[in-house]
Amino acid sequence: MSTLTIVTYHYVRDLARSRYPGIKGLTVEAFEGQLDYLTNHYEVCSMRDVLDAMRGRRPLPEHACALTFDDGFLDHFTVVFPRLVERKLTASFYPPVTAIEGQTVLETHQIHLILAVAGDDAPALARRVCELIDVRRDADLPSAAELYASYATPSRFDGAEVAFVKRVLQKGLPPRVRTAIVRELYDEYVAVDPRVMARELYMDAEQLRCLLQHGMEVGGHGAEHVWLDTLSRGDQEREIARTVDFLGRIHGRRARDWVMCYPFGAHDATTVDVVAAAGCALGLTTRVGVARDLTQPLVLPRLDTNDLPRRGDASPTALEVGRG
Ligand SMILES: [Zn+2]
Repeated sequence: MSTLTIVTYHYVRDLARSRYPGIKGLTVEAFEGQLDYLTNHYEVCSMRDVLDAMRGRRPLPEHACALTFDDGFLDHFTVVFPRLVERKLTASFYPPVTAIEGQTVLETHQIHLILAVAGDDAPALARRVCELIDVRRDADLPSAAELYASYATPSRFDGAEVAFVKRVLQKGLPPRVRTAIVRELYDEYVAVDPRVMARELYMDAEQLRCLLQHGMEVGGHGAEHVWLDTLSRGDQEREIARTVDFLGRIHGRRARDWVMCYPFGAHDATTVDVVAAAGCALGLTTRVGVARDLTQPLVLPRLDTNDLPRRGDASPTALEVGRG
């Protein structure tokens, strides 16, 4: 094997004609362009192929690539799935348990929707977040200004204000505070019943089974979509046990040799231990890179769809660098 390039996708939709055109996603046209690019330059493999290679049963092709779709979005069923079938490609899908079965919108996606509605007015949203933090402030909590100073630095994909909003609401505040603030912002900015939004946003169990029936693969993405590396071993075990039970319900049999896609890519040595003990064979992170061997199958690197070339994009990307 020379390289295994695993590509990560989230939202894939007709953005301009969607309810939230500001959501950070890939357009249908860009997705089709990437499928053309990938099928021209790579051989698209399934996770079964990766597992076979890891077990020494059958090597991967020289330029292997795998497509992974995180978070259980309905986009994956309505937009992605038919285009994969048309091209006879296999991909793998990683829905969090609560997205599919919880009749609610995961906090991380509530944050995406809030940001999409805020649009170019991210500075105003960041100010509102600071106000809400200071309203709820007690002795244990740093001030909004202190939190802003530590979290408002641009990330690979986001400017300073957006990065601040995401980091402070996803992880920077204690769970009880961030849940309350996200809920308040969701009601202010989005104001759609979360049960209705969940039906618009996520696949259901039958749709996941339909993917399986057409040769697609479904793996684990945790239950509540949390940073596993922030949890105690016991809480990590509970998250993974719920993931395994869910995969069993979707597949109709006890999951074994399943694939874990760590939410936010977050994992520690305990996570790797816990998933291995639960029969997980491959683990996907968000560490940016291309796998050159399969000696660490539980912490495989991935590229984001944004790392792939766009139509008319002449500059070299991580993908091409990775192939070099
Ligand atoms: Zn995710």
